Amino acid sequence: MTLKQLEIGQTAVVTEVGGEGALRQHFLDMGLIPGVPVTVVKYAPMGDPMELMLHGYELTLRLDDADKIQIRPSKPLKDERIDDRHRPAEHPGLGEGGRFHPKGSGDPLPEGTTLTFALVGNQNSGKTTLFNQLTGSNQHVGNFPGVTVDRKDGTIRKHPDTLVTDLPGIYSMSPYSSEEIVSRNFVLQDKPKAIINIVDATNIERNLYLTMQLLEMNVPMVVALNMMDEVTANGGSVDINRMEAELGVPVVAISAAKNSGVDELIDHVIHVAKYQERPLRQDFCDQSANGGAVHRCLHGISHLIEDHAAAAGVPPRFAASKLIEGDRLIAEQLKLDQNEREMVEHIILQMEKERKLDRSAAIADMRFSFINRVCAQTVRKPRESRERIRSERFDRILTGKYTAIPAFIAIMALVFFLTFHVIGLFLQNSLDAGITALSGVVERALISANVNAALRSLVIDGIFTGVGSVLSFLPIIVTLFFFLSILEDSGYIARVAFVMDKLLRKLGLSGRSIVPMLIGFGCTVPAVMATRTLPSERDRKMTILLTPFMSCSAKVPIYAFFSGVFFPRYAALVMIGLYVLGIVIGILAALLYRGTIFKGDAVPFVMELPNYRLPGAKNVLRLLWEKAKDFLTRAFTIILLATIVIWFLQSFDLRLNLVEDSSASILALVAGWMAPILRPIGLADWRICTSLITGFTAKESVVATMEILFADKLTAVLTPLSAASMLVFSLLYTPCVAAVASVKREMGWRWAVGVVLWQCAVAWLAALVIYRVGMLLPVF
Ligand code: GDP
Ligand code: MG
Repeated sequence: MTLKQLEIGQTAVVTEVGGEGALRQHFLDMGLIPGVPVTVVKYAPMGDPMELMLHGYELTLRLDDADKIQIRPSKPLKDERIDDRHRPAEHPGLGEGGRFHPKGSGDPLPEGTTLTFALVGNQNSGKTTLFNQLTGSNQHVGNFPGVTVDRKDGTIRKHPDTLVTDLPGIYSMSPYSSEEIVSRNFVLQDKPKAIINIVDATNIERNLYLTMQLLEMNVPMVVALNMMDEVTANGGSVDINRMEAELGVPVVAISAAKNSGVDELIDHVIHVAKYQERPLRQDFCDQSANGGAVHRCLHGISHLIEDHAAAAGVPPRFAASKLIEGDRLIAEQLKLDQNEREMVEHIILQMEKERKLDRSAAIADMRFSFINRVCAQTVRKPRESRERIRSERFDRILTGKYTAIPAFIAIMALVFFLTFHVIGLFLQNSLDAGITALSGVVERALISANVNAALRSLVIDGIFTGVGSVLSFLPIIVTLFFFLSILEDSGYIARVAFVMDKLLRKLGLSGRSIVPMLIGFGCTVPAVMATRTLPSERDRKMTILLTPFMSCSAKVPIYAFFSGVFFPRYAALVMIGLYVLGIVIGILAALLYRGTIFKGDAVPFVMELPNYRLPGAKNVLRLLWEKAKDFLTRAFTIILLATIVIWFLQSFDLRLNLVEDSSASILALVAGWMAPILRPIGLADWRICTSLITGFTAKESVVATMEILFADKLTAVLTPLSAASMLVFSLLYTPCVAAVASVKREMGWRWAVGVVLWQCAVAWLAALVIYRVGMLLPVF
């Protein structure tokens, strides 16, 4: 019998895990191993994928993949939670008195060494929250050399010679998605002085799986047991001292969101890094379990490859277990010769024979057995978690069979309504009024100071009109990001992926692709970056190519500007229409890509559904501040520069005389060559060509340029129909420079150039259809 045949609410024990390669490894890493009980929770509204409960957390899996997992039905799990809590005990301190700081009196690293830390943990374990607590405001966003991932570095507050790096969330040290490779390489190659391993205490078994692999790295480490507030509030407890003894590294109970225990954590991590205290044990295989087959195999291989591992700079125990799991990267690094490779293979074959499990499953099983033993001794699970119950209640609606899709549409509609009509609009109008008033004050001041007319025009008609018109959109953009980040941090987007998987699959993608696309409504740059969580190169590339179709927030000023002038009564309708049009053309493009450059199917969809959590206010505020700062920097650099250049080019002719009418200006001359290309779509005006060109620097510039060039004469040049064509063209044509640069970083410059040309072509065609069809309609 396979998992696919199991009905809702039924429980079974996994007997065999099929599939192959990285996917199978991922199944195992997520805890789907022989012997583990799983319960079917529900199916997605469209019947696929399914939601499972195992190891106390929720996982989604497609039916096709579930079909590869053999099961044996079993009785429902009985609640084996015991009701005697651990009494809180004194936690051993630092230095010699501290039990797990044996070298406290040894020699520390020389004064002035920068203590570098890697913050490693599962997704949603609270890394970012902890990072913000650790660093206070001393952080800056940097780029990874080579792979370029947005990584965050910061110094720990009050410890100036430290550097913490917030790494992408990973489930295992077997690379599955490109983010996981980044995190793994960071630990292996950048050699941080210590690891801060953040563990979600509400989901401890699954989280400790990564911990065990980190311990094998033999790098000084502290386990930060996060979310302890939830655990204790629900009546659970953890025997911290005992867990320390079992794991051989300091364990500190914290709550990153409530900022409790963080100071103690800082003391421990600094101490551990300074004295380079490595984990006391890396050996977790039980000598007597199952005849000791796995134990002998692991030890045999680690001895065999000891010198190779030392030469390659890889910890031997880590190398051995990865070699057994069939990790090709490690195998290459070790440079074993033919004979040695054969010996290793023989040892593994012998183990497989004795253990009656294949190699990957045997290793995963060894790790989970150890974890189960540790947890049995140290963790008292809460009776029932309030958060779990709350999550289930939310999910009854948000992923319910009939309610999920309406709920999604309603939530997105609410987000956009609040952004564009309530909060954002109100703030925008206030800001706009402020800017106009300021502009008036400055103009009067310039006049009374007798400043020369050209300069006055630069300041008022150039900078204030241009940058000001863009600046007033700051509130809308920040509000949109506010909602998107809440959706993401709360755990809802993971549900959207679950619900939408089947639909996206028809386009050749998986549910995971929905995350970058929703972020694309905010900005294409982070959206392109978010594709790194996708496990397959094909899905990743295809998703990147689709993000430009999601109408980014920088295009909002364009929509608002044109619908304000041409369709004031239907502004909301026009806005919605454009968003929908972008999505529809995106879908068509996806189908086209699928049939041509990206043949084949999306990779399987295996994803954790975290409990719903309220995002911390501090995290959200910080994010908003970052976005606002980003936007302001852009307004006062690229956009300011563009407005000045545009103002200059439209005010002077080739002999640098100030022109009366800008149609005699340099700009008119230069932009004129583009006009013929845009004639078929009704946009053959040099001013429009210019604004579209400046839009390439930043989409908001389109409006800034229009304001400068047209003043109030827009309706004389454009008809409502050509305005519609302009809107469609702006929606679809090339993403801005920043977005193209991020495409280049992910896929190389060929693709980046391809995206620019392709989007322009699509935009031109779509605008052509709108324009020509519109001409036949009586309304225009
Ligand atoms: P990351 O994905 O590992 O970076 O996790 P985040 O820092 O984004 O946190 C995921 C969610 O857990 C957010 O909604 C946080 O507000 C929440 N969270 C983080 N730490 C704690 C904690 O100590 N207690 C509780 N109750 N929630 C937390
Ligand atoms: Mg994070």
